[in-house]
Amino acid sequence: ATHADPVDYPDRWFTACHEHGIYVEEISTERALRIEPDLNPNISRSFRVLDASLDSFELLHLLVSAIRRAGGQVWLRHRLESLTIDRNTVVAAEVTKLTTGERVTIRADFFANAAGPWARQVANLAGIDFPIALGKGTMVALTSRPVHTIINRCRPPSDGDIIVPVGTVAVLGTTDVEVESPTELAIEPREIDLLLAQGEILLPGLSKYRPLRAWAGVRPLYRPVRGESGSTRALPRGHVLLDHAESDGVFKMASIFGGKLTTFRLMAEHAMDLVARQLGVGTACRTGDTPLDPERRKFFTLSTRLAELETSSETDREQIICECELVTRSAIEEALRSSSSPDLDDVRRDLRLGMGPCQAGFCAYRAAGIAHEVMPSPIPDGGLSEFLKERWRGIRPLGWGETLCQMELTRRIYLDLLHTHMIQEPSK
Ligand SMILES: Cc1cc2nc3c(=O)[nH]c(=O)nc-3n(C[C@H](O)[C@H](O)[C@H](O)COP(=O)(O)OP(=O)(O)OC[C@H]3O[C@@H](n4cnc5c(N)ncnc54)[C@H](O)[C@@H]3O)c2cc1C
Repeated sequence: ATHADPVDYPDRWFTACHEHGIYVEEISTERALRIEPDLNPNISRSFRVLDASLDSFELLHLLVSAIRRAGGQVWLRHRLESLTIDRNTVVAAEVTKLTTGERVTIRADFFANAAGPWARQVANLAGIDFPIALGKGTMVALTSRPVHTIINRCRPPSDGDIIVPVGTVAVLGTTDVEVESPTELAIEPREIDLLLAQGEILLPGLSKYRPLRAWAGVRPLYRPVRGESGSTRALPRGHVLLDHAESDGVFKMASIFGGKLTTFRLMAEHAMDLVARQLGVGTACRTGDTPLDPERRKFFTLSTRLAELETSSETDREQIICECELVTRSAIEEALRSSSSPDLDDVRRDLRLGMGPCQAGFCAYRAAGIAHEVMPSPIPDGGLSEFLKERWRGIRPLGWGETLCQMELTRRIYLDLLHTHMIQEPSK
């Protein structure tokens, strides 16, 4: 807590944590500063909590393999287009396979809508509507990691109240701006200013670190009173499970949305309990005590990659394609082959390709060349222009100082030197 925050909040919050069995310990400012030396020495009170961060890309891999091990199927890159209703019952879904354009019909005994901020659009396909409010949140990653632990501001939830160290970077979060559509992700300069200014209160001198990227996501929030206005920040983050037979007279379909990533297993359990009841399955749900099996994949840290590289002999030493994140040629080839996706953004999510300080300035064209060699039906430019567009989107809102210099260098490499905007077909 800082001197700018409501004085009575820490005690109310502390008591509420105890009442709900959540571990929290008050510590002295001296101890807080020993743990986090760059913290503002003028903070008023400090608490230790069991906060954590996770790699959401890795989490999805773990979920997919858990689903497959349990006999389920996961179809990537398929878009739901329509739902077929027969006598007030959802009986089929039509999807498009985005890689080929092929249409596929899925028949099922029950349909669960877990489309996050798109949940309302999906429900609309069955003629159902419910009041969902969309809160866009912007985040900024710094090129460095000035903290060891997650730092939260101890005050009622508001903009810019968290600093999260992730891998080699730190993420400043977040804002909350109500938007009309899940694709309304434009970042406003005032959001960036606000995040940096709030970060500076917790860590004086934070603005000397170079901002790396900015991006935004949209939270789906339940607004039970239709037409009610008011800030999305104030809406509860609890999840909502709607059985559409009860709420709308449409059978064999439920929607689950809202909540937090932290509670996603609980959300899954509630949704599956409903599905099981509807299908007459009496087996108790095991989601709550089934750990996802992390051994099957190798977690990535830059230091382990560096150690591997340094201990390998000169002859075995691999070609490094992305120097910032130490991504090797063979790792890229393997990722392309195993995902069978020519999309370099998928390689990025798996290996952190292009996510370091130069934001793909030097690795994107190399990786595109590899994709072109390795993939049976590559994208004509190896996926380069789409990959660069996505990288560009995240650095554009930060166009000043050193970030601007890096942007300009990258722009000149790709546009002036390589003329990438002219690569359309392999023959050209
Ligand atoms: C800025 C921000 C900060 C956050 N911070 C935190 C935090 O600190 N801690 C925390 O616990 N939670 C946090 N959250 C919340 C958390 O990220 C969300 O609760 C969570 O991602 C929602 O998961 P979901 O599966 O319901 O929806 P999503 O993750 O949005 O998934 C919905 C999926 O449905 C797919 N989809 C939609 N329409 C279709 C269609 N027609 N066909 C096929 N697929 C479709 C989408 O492609 C998407 O993959 C934050 C969210 C935001 C936006």
